[in-house]
Amino acid sequence: MDQYRVFGNPIAQSKSPFIHQQFALQTQQTLNYSSELVALDGFEAAVNKLIANNGRGANVTAPFKEQAFTLCDHLSKRAQLAGAVNTLIIENGLIYGDTTDGLGLVNDLLSNNVQLEGRRILLLGAGGAAKGVMQALLEQLPSQLVIANRTLLKAERVAELYPKHSVKALSFSHAENMTFDIIINATSAGLSGAKLPIADLCLKKATTCYDMVYGKEQTPFLKQAATLGVTNVIDGLGMLVGQAAGSFELWRNIKPETAGVLSLLRAELRTN
Ligand code: NDP
Repeated sequence: MDQYRVFGNPIAQSKSPFIHQQFALQTQQTLNYSSELVALDGFEAAVNKLIANNGRGANVTAPFKEQAFTLCDHLSKRAQLAGAVNTLIIENGLIYGDTTDGLGLVNDLLSNNVQLEGRRILLLGAGGAAKGVMQALLEQLPSQLVIANRTLLKAERVAELYPKHSVKALSFSHAENMTFDIIINATSAGLSGAKLPIADLCLKKATTCYDMVYGKEQTPFLKQAATLGVTNVIDGLGMLVGQAAGSFELWRNIKPETAGVLSLLRAELRTN
């Protein structure tokens, strides 16, 4: 049977096996998808083992996305720009790397009726997740895309990758007096419960705040935004399902339906 994995460390929290099992059932595909905890120095060995055991593909999550990028024999254009890979496609022993995070984010925003074209977007963070969504956001033709990060130099490096689009890089404090329609949190601050150093003044002018993080409770960033009166606050569960759908389609050449799987996950998150 065709084998698929999600590699990460930690990995116990991963919802990917559930999502892909649902996609496989729905599209009547016979495959096995499981999660694998990989030692911090064991990523390449884990991929080689999968290849030797009828592996056809894998998802890659933190902290291996950049290492996956260096391991691939071929890379998609969007993975090259992102410098990170979340999907491995294995064919004849060769590894093709792609990233579907941007697709997942954009599809989730659009399905929540958030128009991106002509809008001013602020992206918070300059790690793998932020880099992975830049190209997809720019393809939606926002009037402005600004990237702000705690470490300014990292935001500047990301902005430089898109010279045609005049992406601006800022520190958090410089965003204070600017106005954005949509603010997307791509930092990991929420995971530790830390409050982001983003000014209330900037946040409360937005119409949509999106957090790539999700959980049982509303994330600190979305709580802050909702308290300030932002009406549209969305967490990253839909992005998770959307990026998984992108990977599944790359592997199986079939587009799975996502709304039902998202509802199941949402219900599960509420009860656990
Ligand atoms: P990285 O470790 O690559 O980057 C972390 C980013 O968060 C950096 O920009 C870092 O800033 C910033 N950061 C961390 N702590 C703080 C803080 N206290 N205050 C301000 N900034 C902070 O992580 P990833 O980019 O891979 O992931 C980011 C988040 O996105 C994670 O929570 C991940 O779970 C989520 N994610 C969700 C997905 C989904 O499908 N919903 C998909 C991919 C990611 P600095 O550079 O200064 O260190």
